[in-house]
Formats: sequence, structure tokens, C-alpha cells
Amino acid sequence: AVGASTKSKPRLLLMGQRRSGKSSISSVVFHKLPPNETLFLESTVRIQKDSMASFMDFQVWDFPGQIDIFEDNGFDMDAIFGEIGALIWVIDAQDDYLEAVARLNSTIAILQSRYPNINIEVFIHKVDGLSDDYKLDIQRDITIRIQDELSDQGYENAPVTFHLTSIYNHSIFEAFSKVIQKLIPRLGTLESMLDNLCRTCRFGKAYLFDVLSKIYIATDSSPADMASYEICSDYIDVIIDITDVYGTWHRSEEGRKRLEGEPWNGKLEDQVGCPTVESCLVLHDSKKPIMLREVDRYLALVAIMGEDSYDKMPLVNMNVEATVEGLTEFFNITRRKK
Ligand code: GDP
Repeated sequence: AVGASTKSKPRLLLMGQRRSGKSSISSVVFHKLPPNETLFLESTVRIQKDSMASFMDFQVWDFPGQIDIFEDNGFDMDAIFGEIGALIWVIDAQDDYLEAVARLNSTIAILQSRYPNINIEVFIHKVDGLSDDYKLDIQRDITIRIQDELSDQGYENAPVTFHLTSIYNHSIFEAFSKVIQKLIPRLGTLESMLDNLCRTCRFGKAYLFDVLSKIYIATDSSPADMASYEICSDYIDVIIDITDVYGTWHRSEEGRKRLEGEPWNGKLEDQVGCPTVESCLVLHDSKKPIMLREVDRYLALVAIMGEDSYDKMPLVNMNVEATVEGLTEFFNITRRKK
């Protein structure tokens, strides 16, 4: 059931032809399935409405590529497209994609005429194993085929974006992060909060993560680099593992309520203490400590600190606290407004 509170969350819809990789993507990103095991997944045979404990209330609707939903009267278009923020269309780059592109073109045309506000995000998928040149060729070819068709139909400014993705590396998470960031109202405010934090604490990079999916909702404005993202996203796994095993200090009743349930994993009152989700660790290879602080039950602030951050932890803690308060307020306000 979609409650009032979940309606204000960004919602994504996943579509594409059979075997293009839809089930694999949602399993890897939202259910932590190791990529190799997608080889044994059943291909999508019906519409799946997949709810999970995420900031985005991701109801990833996983459409089978086979059914043409627009011709089948059994589908309620408004129910399907009325609320979503972005349509993700998956194209298998290792296969002949002409048919997929043709279907996508007709889908975009219908959406543009009836739901022009939906972002259309094309995942040119399974690009692992393709050479860089070939990847770019394919991307160029698909982009041209779609844009030509759109301008023929008079939709020059359709919100269509292209991403090169694979479940075998972080590119799928990066793509989701970009998709979701477009759906956050006043993203700039979030970014400047993270900029402030980085400046006052001399952090190298800060991310606001959706813990369950490890998609980042925002980051500071310093140049993005894959290595920082990987370090921070791996760190979340480390912390989730540790908090499953150990518990340390008590929280207020309010704090406890906030954190029960996924992804921090409930049962707080059964334990002697509560899981600590405030942490700081030095990674030996990078010399730079990483910190993680929960913001609410879905979101966590993760940052790569400076080499000298340990010497000024009181100051760092104070600034992190202030940022967390600011973030909490931000999300309370944006939720209320909607
Ligand atoms: P669906 O029918 O769209 O749900 O497609 P599936 O998720 O069942 O995927 C079909 C096949 O593609 C599976 O064998 C997956 O292992 C494979 N696959 C999915 N994503 C990738 C990817 O990023 N790279 C590669 N090489 N194979 C993938």
C-alpha cells in the first residue's frame, strides 16, 4: 500500500526488453545480490512492485519487456505513470538494440504527450567487457537515433538522459545516484551543507547515502571521483556488519524509534545497548580516516576526513552534529511542503 508519507518520495520505474537486465539491476542495487548470481535469476515475467526500506521508497516497477503496456487496456496509465519521477529504460548494449530503441521511442512519445514531467533515463547496460571506444560509439548511435526521432515528432526538449551501466562495477550505483539527484527538490541546499562541512572540517569528500541501496543523494561540489565513492560505499558495509554484531551505547527513545527497521536492522531494545552508527575508522591504504553518521533511518553521512582530523575531533564532531541537524530539518521541510 502506498501511504501518504511514501507519496512524497521519489519513485522510479524500470522498463526494458526481456533479458535486458532489469531483474539483475534491482536485485544487485536493492537486494544486495552478488552480480554473478544474476545469471540464475528468473527473467521478469510479470509486473513486480518492489517495495523496500529506502529513502526513495523505491517502488521499482519491473515491467516485462514483452508486454506492450500501452496497447493493453488492462493497465491503468495514470496509476502507473501518475506519480513516478523517472522512467529508467534499460537497453542491452551487448545485443542488437534497434528494436529496444524503437520501443523506447514510442514510449517517450506517449509519455511526452501525457506526462511531460517524467524524466527519461536510458541505461545503456551491460557495457562491461566492451572497449571504451565501442561504448562511446554505441552511446552516440543510440542518442542520435532517439533524438532524431524526437525532433521529427516535435519533442526537441524531452528530458532524456543517457548512462553507461553495468552491474559488475559501481557504474550502476553512480547512474542511479544521478537519476535520483534530479528528483530532489532544492538539491543545491543539500550540496552547500556538505560543502560547508568539508570546508570547516577539511574533509576530502562528503556523501549523503541511502544506506540500503548505497545510492548517494548528494555530495559536496568537489570533483567526483569513483575511488572516493567506492571507499565510502564499502565503509557502509563494514559498519552495517559491525552494528549487526556489537552494540554499544543507549539512545533516547526518539533516537531508537528513528533507527529501528532496515537498514540498521531493528531489535534495538533486545540488545544490551544499541548499535553504534556513529563511527570513524582509518583505512590503512589511504591514511585518511572515514567517518559515518546516521541521519535518519535511511540516510547516512559518510565522509573522507583529512589526515589531521583526529587531532581536532571535538570540532569535527560539533560540525558533523550541526550538519546532521541541518539535513534533518531539510528533509522535514521538503516532506511537509509536498
Ligand atoms: P530481465 O529480463 O530484464 O529482468 O533481465 P535479467 O535481469 O534476467 O538479466 C538477463 C541476463 O543479463 C542475466 O543472465 C544477467 O546475468 C545478465 N546481466 C544483467 N546485467 C548485466 C551486466 O551489467 N553485465 C552483463 N555482462 N550481464 C548482465
